[in-house]
Amino acid sequence: MNIVLLGPPGAGKGTQAKRIEKALGLVQLSTGDMLRAAVAAGTEVGLKAKAVMEAGKLVSDDILIGMIAERIGEPDCKNGFILDGFPRTVAQAEALDAMLKARGYKLDHCIEMRVDDAALVARISGRYSCKNCGAVYHDQTRPTRVAGTCDSCGSKDLLRRPDDKAETVAARLKAYHEQTAPIIPYYRDHGALRSVDGMADMDAVTGELSKLLGKPIAAV
Ligand code: AMP
Repeated sequence: MNIVLLGPPGAGKGTQAKRIEKALGLVQLSTGDMLRAAVAAGTEVGLKAKAVMEAGKLVSDDILIGMIAERIGEPDCKNGFILDGFPRTVAQAEALDAMLKARGYKLDHCIEMRVDDAALVARISGRYSCKNCGAVYHDQTRPTRVAGTCDSCGSKDLLRRPDDKAETVAARLKAYHEQTAPIIPYYRDHGALRSVDGMADMDAVTGELSKLLGKPIAAV
């Protein structure tokens, strides 16, 4: 099963993608995570992407399309994948269609997570995560049980993304509305789009996704 999760930054795509990955044995393909790994490793892509990401803008279509084309060709993607953060422009959506077709793959579900801008700013600016296991927390709504320690794996390596600063969040939302929102009608026209209320509680959203995908998904 191949799934695209759409929605603005902070909509909860990463959290839900991890739950779906675990429940359905699919691979989560987060282009944001791939780019952050490239930045940390200092690769050529990472060097090009760093300043763009810090400014809250979108990295070039060429880089992203090349990255995803290569990744979905890897053997673990044969069983299905969840795209989280890609496509983010109409050009990326068109390229995705072409690369899926060329490999004999299809998109089974395209789901939009809808959230108000005001809620997104509060969500993103309080968020931090565990570097070791990827668990996501929030200062107000979901703090770790013991300050500075991950509930899931006990790691003390908790971090905040540099682009989660309030001033960068505004640029990321602008990029979303100007460049990414136009892919919503693109998928609506292709007849594949469905929506969930991303403002609902995290576990309720998982319940809605489970209904749409027709599979049980644990809220963990
Ligand atoms: P995310 O973790 O999905 O919020 O992505 C973090 C940042 O990585 C974004 O603000 C962009 O700068 C960059 N990025 C991630 N995915 C894409 C994409 N599909 N197209 C362009 N830039 C991307």
